[in-house]
Amino acid sequence: MILTKTVILKIENPDNNLVETMQRYSEGMNHASSVVFHYGKTIGSYKLQQIVYGYLRETIGLKSQMSCNIPRQVAGCYKTLKEQIKEGKVNWKEITFSPYSMTLSYKRDFSISQDSVAITTINNGRKSYKIQNYDNAQQYFDGTWKFTASKVLRHKDGNHYFHLSIEKDVPEKELEETSNYMGVDLGMNYLAVASTTEKKCNFFAGGHIKDIRNQYKSMRTRLQSKGTLSAKRMIKHLSDKEKRLMRDVNHVVSKQIIKFAIENNVSIIGLEDLKGIRENRVRKTRRNNRYHHSSWAYRQLQDFIEYKAIEAGIKIQFVDPAHTSQECNQCNHVAKNNRNRLNFACKKCGYENNADLNAAMNIEKRTRDIGYTSLSQGCLSATQTNA
Ligand SMILES: [Zn+2]
Repeated sequence: MILTKTVILKIENPDNNLVETMQRYSEGMNHASSVVFHYGKTIGSYKLQQIVYGYLRETIGLKSQMSCNIPRQVAGCYKTLKEQIKEGKVNWKEITFSPYSMTLSYKRDFSISQDSVAITTINNGRKSYKIQNYDNAQQYFDGTWKFTASKVLRHKDGNHYFHLSIEKDVPEKELEETSNYMGVDLGMNYLAVASTTEKKCNFFAGGHIKDIRNQYKSMRTRLQSKGTLSAKRMIKHLSDKEKRLMRDVNHVVSKQIIKFAIENNVSIIGLEDLKGIRENRVRKTRRNNRYHHSSWAYRQLQDFIEYKAIEAGIKIQFVDPAHTSQECNQCNHVAKNNRNRLNFACKKCGYENNADLNAAMNIEKRTRDIGYTSLSQGCLSATQTNA
């Protein structure tokens, strides 16, 4: 599986040369864009290059490499626009490019090391800039990652940053008869509960997140009743703070989940397939019970788990989420009243367990069923993630 990532590195000594390069580059992009817009339909990148190359080189003074990149990028943007038009999302419009963003191809336009990036600039050829490399970014320079098209961006704080895009091909664990599976339920009392084929389980609480989010909620309610402008600003501030907090918690919890999976030699992690359908039908019964772990935070946690799993060579399998909390994992009896808040007690066979753990066990079982089916068919199922 291909793992992709963007590493953000601050450029310590941006100069006028870099700023001017970005300006002229966006000028070139906007020129090419205007050509396509007035033409009234998409133009292939080769043809567009033939039309705009002379102007980019002579009038704007761009280097030949950039004069080739620009038509390719602009043609690509209009191709995407065309697809969006087909889906009825937007109308034909002129795409504009900001002077605060510049896309560069690896090797052709930039090269990079741990502490410097060399960029092709307009006046001085290739110029080297110092980058501030953070401890957690060092690992991406160990030679195992491939650098791809990246960006120089001026952020709102006025500083320039290099957004380095990287990718790596991670080997997947082979599926075998003896593979260990793990189901993860994102529950109401714990952020997540995991259960493996060997019946090892773990509860991931996420610290005091529940209390903190409740606090935020009551603060928001109080502010909303005020309705003043400053109250609105405060609400925005609080919700940004809460989002950052949730993000941190989701990072920590997803990391713990993957650590637990690795310790138990898990090959496949099962998650409920909530993408797309989660808002409408399947979740209705449980959603009201779910504490304030709102849908975006919930989706984010799934995304983080997925990403970290791929990194560890563990597959993710999404399973049907229907009745995972109401089904008895012993006798498969499904009933609403099997679950009473935190407790699961089967009305048919009398089996009792923590309700979230019972759900995680059901998810593990569904994941295993899919695994066995693929093994017997000698191929992976169509729903296998292709991330
Ligand atoms: Zn039962």
